[in-house]
Parts: sequence; C-alpha cells; structure tokens
Amino acid sequence: MGSTETHRPLHIFFFPFMAQGHTIPVVDIARQYASRGVKATIVTTPFNVPLFSKTIDKIKSLGIEIGVLTIKFPAKEVGLPEGCESAHLVVPEMRQKFIKASNMLEQPLEQLLQKHRPDCLVSDLFFPWSNDVASRCGIPRLVFHGTCFFSLCASESVISYEPYKKVSSDSEPFVIPTLPDEIKLTKKQLPDFVTSSVETEFGKLFKALKEADRKSFGVIVNSFYELETAYADHYRKVLGRKAWHIGPVSLCNKDAEEKALRGSKEAFTDQHESLKWLDSRQPNSVVYVCFGSVANFSDSQLMEIAMGLEASGQQFIWVVKKGMNSGGKEEWLPEGFEKRMQDKGLIIRDWAPQVLILDHEAVGGFVTHCGWNSTLEGVAAGVTMVTWPVSAEQFYNEKLVTQILKIGVAVGVQQWIRVVGDSIKKEAIEKAVRQIMVGEEAEEMRRRAKALAEMARIAVDEGGSSYSDLNASIEELKSLRL
Ligand code: UDP
Repeated sequence: MGSTETHRPLHIFFFPFMAQGHTIPVVDIARQYASRGVKATIVTTPFNVPLFSKTIDKIKSLGIEIGVLTIKFPAKEVGLPEGCESAHLVVPEMRQKFIKASNMLEQPLEQLLQKHRPDCLVSDLFFPWSNDVASRCGIPRLVFHGTCFFSLCASESVISYEPYKKVSSDSEPFVIPTLPDEIKLTKKQLPDFVTSSVETEFGKLFKALKEADRKSFGVIVNSFYELETAYADHYRKVLGRKAWHIGPVSLCNKDAEEKALRGSKEAFTDQHESLKWLDSRQPNSVVYVCFGSVANFSDSQLMEIAMGLEASGQQFIWVVKKGMNSGGKEEWLPEGFEKRMQDKGLIIRDWAPQVLILDHEAVGGFVTHCGWNSTLEGVAAGVTMVTWPVSAEQFYNEKLVTQILKIGVAVGVQQWIRVVGDSIKKEAIEKAVRQIMVGEEAEEMRRRAKALAEMARIAVDEGGSSYSDLNASIEELKSLRL
C-alpha cells in the first residue's frame, strides 16, 4: 500500500442496532472518532435517521463531520406492520419477524462496504453475520454490545458454566462462577433463550452472536477502566478478549444543546420545562425516574410508582412513555395525584433530556431500569440509584451498582419480564427512594457516587484512560492497513 493510502484518514463504518439504547451511544462514539480525525460513517435504516439527524447537524456546526448512509429495512417483506422498524415498537409476537428482517440487512450492508471500502466496521452485537461480511471485505469487525465489562464477564460465565442448572428452583440463588467477586443471581433473572432447552429463533440468534463475538477482531466498550478495573482486566486477561474502553461517551458532548438533542426528534427549543423546574430546587433534592426507551409498564404498576413516590415525600421528575399505556386515559394515576403533586413532582410524557436532567445539581437520585446507557449516565452524574431491572443484561448491571460500586439499592427481587406487571408495591418503592435520598446511608452512597463521577470526567479528558484507549484503537486500526 502506497504512502497516499496510509495518509488518508482512517474510515470507520458504524452500524448500530435499530433501538434508541444502541443508536444513541453509537452516534456518541462515532462523534468521538470523528473528533480525532477519523472519517466516521453511520449506517442505519431510514426510520432511525430522524432520531439523530438533528444531533448530526449540531455536531457539524461544531466543525465535526459524520456521514450517514441508509439501507432499507425490509419490514413489509417479512410481514411486519408499516413503521415497525425500531425495537421499542416490537411487541413479543413480532420479535421473530424483526430478527428475520434484521438478518436481511446482510446483503445491502455488504454492497455498501464494497462501494465505500472503509477500513473497519463497528457493528452491533445483534448483527452476528456482519463478522463474515467484514471478513469478505477484508476489514476488521469490532463489536458494540452497549454494555459494560462487568456484564460481559458475567454473561460469558453464565453461558460457559450454566450455573443455573445446579439449583433446584427458579428462585434459588446461584453464584456466577470464576468472577472476581461473589455475584449471585437466580434463574428467574435470566432470559428463557439462555436457560430453556427448547431452541427458539432468539436462542439461535443468541448463540450466533456469541460465536461471532468471539471471532471478531475486538470489542468497543462504553465504560471506563477505573469504574470496573477487575472486570476490564478479567475480560482481557482471563477471557482473552481484545477490548477498548472509551466512555462514558455521553460526557464527551460538552454542549448543552447537543446533550438535549440526544435521541430526540424535536428541535432544540431554548430550555426544556424540566430544567427550568429544576432550577428552583435545592441541590440533591429531586429523584429522577425513567426506565429507558423500551420498558413497558402496566397501568397498575404505574399506579404503584405514583403512590410510592408520593409516600416517599421526595420531589421527583418522572418520565412516562405514555404512548405505550391505556389509550390516552390517565387511569394509571391515583385520583387527584397531579394536583397534590403540583409543587413536588413533574411528569414528563414520552422523552426527556435525560443527561441534562441527571447533570442538574438539584437531582440527587435516579430510579432506573439499569439499561447500560442510563446506568453509566447516572454514574457520570454522580447520583445514587434505585435499581429496577426488567430485561436483557440489566440484572447484571444492577449487581454492579448495588454490590460492587455500592451507589444504589435494589427496589426488590425482580425477574425477567416483558410487560412489567404490578410486582413492585408502593411500600418497596417508597422505602428504596428514601434510602437513596435521605439519611446517612444515602450520604455515604452519594460520596462514593460523586467520586466515581469525578473519575469518569478524568477518564475522558485528555490523557485519561478512555481518552488514551480511544487513541490506541485508532493507532491499532491504522497499523492494520499498513
Ligand atoms: N433517554 C433519554 N430520554 C428519555 C429516555 C431515555 O434521553 O426519556 C436516553 C437515555 O439517556 C439513554 C437511552 O435513552 O441514553 C436509553 O438507553 P438505556 O441503555 O438506558 O436503555 P434502553 O432504552 O436501551 O432500555
């Protein structure tokens, strides 16, 4: 390869899964690479573009270019209803078809790679076939899992050693073998596609993605070394995986407008009502309640949350994905709730500028479903947390928060569920919220949380561990084309 070839900027294709929790961090990651002189191109389906196009425009106004290419999502071809193109719109009965349509992106992706000839493909865990596509195009594939080292190690151990087979009931705890700490889980907290002997489409996908993961060139992790040192080391040294930690990527966006635009279709209008509302509150006096972009709560569970928040006596901002619940009626709120809570609480329907809210000094606690982005954003903001996992690797993330980092408490013993029923009663919510907001235990947790937030900031600043690892990944990828 001639010298012109080695001097042209490294070109990376980023290919996130069609879900907010995957697209948002991948846009942040692409931005990070682009800000270091890498040519970054995001490949996605047309449906997803409006969710981040305003962010891309904003980033451009800051002098950083990110390219976007689209490939058609074959929803109609597999019998999905029109517009069913993002994970949060997929009800369980449609899941198989959604996977089928996702798998059909293989050929168009390959055509794009052949046409544009990037140097590397960073693709989502849920596209295991992209490993073969990259290798046919002669470039390395890096996997983006959207989670942390801790849960990567825990999940690898559960799959390899199957400790859930050694317990006599679904609720009997087992220890996850070979991890640096004694971490216990129950079978109920694992998905069926891991524990069941019946092979489903999702089970097949899960096997395929684990295999592709092991064969890939390496892994990009949105986390920082100081947060989970023992697990970052375990992943690399014991499990032998090549990985770069480059997060928290949400901290790299310094501009308030850019932060407000994350994942939002709306144009940036001055200031969100929640931020104005927070301005008049005391430091650490508000708890922020949000369960990410996918989790679906029943009306009766929402009612328990409302009653729990009221009983806790704490001020709150609560994000409710209203569209997913009972046809527009407020049956999920206790009689007179909004009037009584007029000064105490704010309910946001649909979408909130989460990072800005968490960063506001009035916010002291976070009730979270433990999606990794939310968990890490909570860490970066130095807030204490009530953990309420619902699915995916959220049960592992909960253990990291409560047992390893000791900056949060569990709302109760949860299990893997699709639609969240009313399993958690108001008393448990009230107790957990108080535990993270007031009293000595809360203060101790807050001290630890603030120290971690400071470490996170240092990690992404020039010379920090994540800053340096990102540079190291660029150097290594460049060296591959020599
Ligand atoms: N998010 C947001 N506003 C909302 C809900 C979510 O900005 O009202 C963002 C949040 O900051 C995070 C992402 O959406 O970056 C959710 O990702 P996470 O991994 O926490 O959960 P998921 O949605 O994948 O379950």
